Amino acid sequence: MPQRKNILDHVRQLMPIQTLSVMPRPLMWAEARIIAERQAAHLLRLLRIKKPSVEIERILTRAPIQIEAVPDLDNSAYSGWKDDHWHILMNADESIWRSRASLAHEVKHILDDPFREVLYPNWPRDSLLPAPDEAEQICDYFAGCVLVPERLLLAAWRSGTCDVAALAQLFEVSPSLITVRLRQTGILPPRHRESWMQYTRWAYRRGSTFAVHAAHVLTFSRLRHRTPAPRKPEVSENGSQVSVSGGLSV
Ligand SMILES: [Zn+2]
Repeated sequence: MPQRKNILDHVRQLMPIQTLSVMPRPLMWAEARIIAERQAAHLLRLLRIKKPSVEIERILTRAPIQIEAVPDLDNSAYSGWKDDHWHILMNADESIWRSRASLAHEVKHILDDPFREVLYPNWPRDSLLPAPDEAEQICDYFAGCVLVPERLLLAAWRSGTCDVAALAQLFEVSPSLITVRLRQTGILPPRHRESWMQYTRWAYRRGSTFAVHAAHVLTFSRLRHRTPAPRKPEVSENGSQVSVSGGLSV
């Protein structure tokens, strides 16, 4: 049986390294996010993943990556090249949901490793310093795009799965990652824009059937009772529940 090409090479091709090599600056955050989104979408296509939960573990059969889970690790995961493969050391004490996010996070580190000098001039390959914040943030963002793709999240939301716990179960990730993705994808407004009507308009635009229904209810309510300003949706501190005061659940 012919050996399939290393999937990492395909996804790495989306990094515009030729352009970056002649530019006198690293990627801007917005650019890095777009590339991460494209890489995540391409990875899912190559892995033939079309529905949640995203089986990121499939990458282990399409790339030279081996995982070793060890207890008492002082971090969620580490990755590095060892002999002839990428070796990811995973923290065996963390939840499986956290571990899935850590694996996706480390995959982005691995994808970007050949471009470190260009992407992070102050963090060359032989540096013993920990990864800079920009690298950690883009790896987190990539992990969210892979495990909770916008298209699949929107589809679930529009089909009526509008509860953080239910979405976390569907995507097999932590509730906090779902909350982050709901905000990143614009299904929920950013924290500083939170207000009930803003939320409704925001979610309405994103196609939320709940928001459409809620908008009608609010309109009727206002016409009939001249009620004061509607209540805000509430997101608990730990992000585990999103609900609307008054008994409506999103
Ligand atoms: Zn990292």
